[in-house]
Amino acid sequence: MQYYSLNGQSPRVDFREATILGQAPDGGLYFPETIPVADKQFTNNLQQFTREEIAFRIIRPFVGTTIPENVLLDIVTQTINFEIPLVQINENTFSLELFHGPTLAFKDIGARFMSRCLGYFSGETNRRVSVLVATSGDTGGAVASGFHNVEGVDVVILYPSGKVSSVQEKQLTTFGDNIHALEVSGNFDDCQQMVKEAFRDRDLAQKIFLTSANSINVARWLPQQFYYFFALQQWKGKQPPVFSVPSGNFGNICAGLMAWKAGLPVQHFIAACNANDVVPRFLQTGKYEPRKALPTISNAMDVGNPSNFIRIMKIFNNDAEALKKMVSSHTTGDQQTKDILLDVYHKHKYLLDPHGAVGYDGLQHYLETHGGEQGIVLETAHPIKFLDVVEPVINESIPVPASINDTLKKEKVAQRIGNSYEELKAYLEVNR
Ligand SMILES: *Cc1c(COP(=O)(O)O)cnc(C)c1O
Repeated sequence: MQYYSLNGQSPRVDFREATILGQAPDGGLYFPETIPVADKQFTNNLQQFTREEIAFRIIRPFVGTTIPENVLLDIVTQTINFEIPLVQINENTFSLELFHGPTLAFKDIGARFMSRCLGYFSGETNRRVSVLVATSGDTGGAVASGFHNVEGVDVVILYPSGKVSSVQEKQLTTFGDNIHALEVSGNFDDCQQMVKEAFRDRDLAQKIFLTSANSINVARWLPQQFYYFFALQQWKGKQPPVFSVPSGNFGNICAGLMAWKAGLPVQHFIAACNANDVVPRFLQTGKYEPRKALPTISNAMDVGNPSNFIRIMKIFNNDAEALKKMVSSHTTGDQQTKDILLDVYHKHKYLLDPHGAVGYDGLQHYLETHGGEQGIVLETAHPIKFLDVVEPVINESIPVPASINDTLKKEKVAQRIGNSYEELKAYLEVNR
């Protein structure tokens, strides 16, 4: 499989190059030359396969020959070594719980896959790789956990001081070993700006082999198809499900659309958004107008210019009408998010996190006008990750899952730096 840049100015590359580069040299996102279509025998009989077989079959054509089959099978097996159950909330709504991985958010899946691929590629070349990543919260923890103790790879995470949740901060700063946290006196945009400058710095590139673990990386994006197949594997409805996907950068829903293109039976997709409604507006007006991100209580979706939207357009050959037939969107404000969270908790004894609540609202809105259909909300994070929001709403404390107890007890280790690129560069030159 070859990948081309959606900006059209860079040479084609294989999966290995696309993973190492992250973004194409012309600044574009990589996109696969073809979308492989799965065998109908396979997509209609998913119960007959193990999860590992499903994941392997889905990803193999995208990886091509860049990773030997036995290694790839090991990688997918480790990627999905936790449960991803489909849980019923009410008669027409199910929750696909993507939060049973080590950092309790769906980003674990992409990060675990990518880290292992990069570890394999770095072993081939014997060259140490430094992964540089800026996070507003969830990405950093997933990347830290995914890359912890991966041979040949160092990770440097930049996060905005005081702007990530307490659980998220622990998940970023307590691994040690090859994981290094930089606490930046600034906001997420500053962090992202500093990382971008590092990638542009040719002088630095001479000294350090830098790569990103950004969500646009094909090795993070493509494995997110797995759990759409796992959902269907557990699906007992008469018709294919509607998927409602809480969306920020639109990588998750874009992977779902790839799965559907590959032949997975899906009725419809809903891009569930918070006040950051660039895509809902586009679907209404036909105008795509990026804006500055607004802060909300579902902060992992506070994105004003979703990077993966261009890939979604590509899946539909830039035909907005075709896109609208398969994808709707809905916007849910903070108050409504809280109301839904409380209501679902009381009525159905199911505790959503704020992102899942946005997804739930989007789905109910759709189902109201589409009688007889049933849907799946992608529950992208465990509510404990957003306890600062959730606990006051339900007026109860949430039990801490045993799996993160140890992390919460550990001491935070982070180096404080200012928000200028010079400081980041100085740190990298001395420490990497
Ligand atoms: C990252 C994230 C999202 C948004 O996913 P995208 O792929 O960026 O659309 C939604 N919910 C949670 C909890 C997240 O961490």
